[in-house]
Amino acid sequence: MTPLSGTGVTPLAGVGTVQWYDPQVELSGVDASESIDPETELATFEQARDTARDELETERERTADRIGDAEAEVFEAHLGFLDDPQITEGVEETVEAGSTAQEAVAETFGSHIEQFESMEGRFAERAADLRDLRDRLLRILTDSDRVDLSELPDGTVLLAKDLAPSDTARLDPDAVAGIATVGGGRTSHSAIFARSLAIPAVVDVGEELSDIEDGTEVLVDGDAGTVVVDPESTPATEAATVEIRTEQVTTADGRAIEVAANVGTTDELAPAVERGADGVGLFRTEFLFLDRETPPTETEQYETYRAALDAFPTGRVVVRTLDAGGDKPIPYLDLPDEENPFLGARGIRLSLDENADLFETQLRALLRAGADGAGDLAVMFPMVATVAELDQVLTRVESVSDDLTSENIAHTVPELGVMIETPSAVFCAREFAERVQFLSIGTNDLTQYVMAASRGSEAVTDLHDPLHPAVLRAIDRTVREGHQGGAWVGVCGEMAGEPELTPLLVGLGVDELSMSAVTIPAVKAAVTAADSDATLIESVLASETREAVRDRLHLG
Ligand code: PEP
Ligand code: MG
Repeated sequence: MTPLSGTGVTPLAGVGTVQWYDPQVELSGVDASESIDPETELATFEQARDTARDELETERERTADRIGDAEAEVFEAHLGFLDDPQITEGVEETVEAGSTAQEAVAETFGSHIEQFESMEGRFAERAADLRDLRDRLLRILTDSDRVDLSELPDGTVLLAKDLAPSDTARLDPDAVAGIATVGGGRTSHSAIFARSLAIPAVVDVGEELSDIEDGTEVLVDGDAGTVVVDPESTPATEAATVEIRTEQVTTADGRAIEVAANVGTTDELAPAVERGADGVGLFRTEFLFLDRETPPTETEQYETYRAALDAFPTGRVVVRTLDAGGDKPIPYLDLPDEENPFLGARGIRLSLDENADLFETQLRALLRAGADGAGDLAVMFPMVATVAELDQVLTRVESVSDDLTSENIAHTVPELGVMIETPSAVFCAREFAERVQFLSIGTNDLTQYVMAASRGSEAVTDLHDPLHPAVLRAIDRTVREGHQGGAWVGVCGEMAGEPELTPLLVGLGVDELSMSAVTIPAVKAAVTAADSDATLIESVLASETREAVRDRLHLG
């Protein structure tokens, strides 16, 4: 069988035995002659709830030990739904109207799931949580076997149509040799999570993946983006074999480039240090706010930021303030319902308006941690589109600092930066750079907005590619204008973690690259080999198509 191609997510390879994961279960049919006794059905439902509660509590504890508290909170949200009166009363009423417990669960959850789905984007994650919980209850009620994602045997290759971020959180990276999915995208949050856990992964393989049966031996090669049935050997991927360098690296022509890690939780700090990160270039703080009932307190946040600063005593830690909205809904924030959340209230827009209190709490925690932690704190702001927004942000930082001074609380005003994620930010890069110390280009969103191609949509994956000349020209302009305005410029989107693109980004003048820890050694090696080749960069920027760009960069 020829290798199946998809999109490589983690540049590692693994061989193992296939286990399909399909959370769908078949309802047992009811014979028309059987009479349904509501009392028995209600007792059955209560028993299923108790079993589900026990399972969820065990999984929550196991995840907290194995991955981290933030990921464990996925299960907290499921426990909350299990006791939600809208759901339990809905099931009870449906049973009393003559349905079996199974039918009542399917129907009640179904209507809530539909409601969340109809709200689009921001609530999609809630719908996924409800689907997860419904499937758990139905599995218990129908007595079906289900693959327990947290207890997979060593050497499992997990195949699925798609995986929710909560599914990925449950995986034990020591047991799972690889993941491959029919759908999904490289910059989806589930893929970013697989990369953080250093699990070899390939997404968007297509329906051919479904032909591979349970028990088959396969190779998942995240480097090549392929799935191979009955492989002869495991290729030695660059990410697995390359030497780890803990020192800062310079290009062949002597330019120092900072190579930092993208993290979402404190559990990702030690792996980042181990793989030679100079610091953290993007701490996605929204992971601290997701899958819980209330926002983290100032103290909780302070401790998290302190941990990051203490993990890199001689490095820089760039923390991004809450980037909610878009594909990162946070239910308790009560955000407006919008037809197109990616173009609506998200990132800094929320922090300056609906979420001003949360923003102030986060700034207080950051300014305090910056004074006490070992490393150098830097704070950056997501989705800034206008100079006026940035001016408001800077005023808020100043006023939080004044408050802390008047309360006699030790604090520092850290280095500040702006993420460049929208065309508008590209055109205002000079003005931003004159006001802050650094710019960090978020190429995942920048590509989405420059190309008008959603980062999660399978229909436009060819357009969502940072190698389109328009995106490269946007990066080039940002670097030049940023430097002229006196700021250093980094890249923290997924393209920063692709070693074959390192010569391009370094050639464009970028000062810092930030990525998932797993790709740091390969990118450090690529930096040391890179030489500024002005002619190459000029010809890439003059290219008319992404195919011409790929040709000039000798990419296959
Ligand atoms: C980006 O948009 O490139 C980025 C780094 O932010 P996120 O992926 O969290 O949206
Ligand atoms: Mg972004």
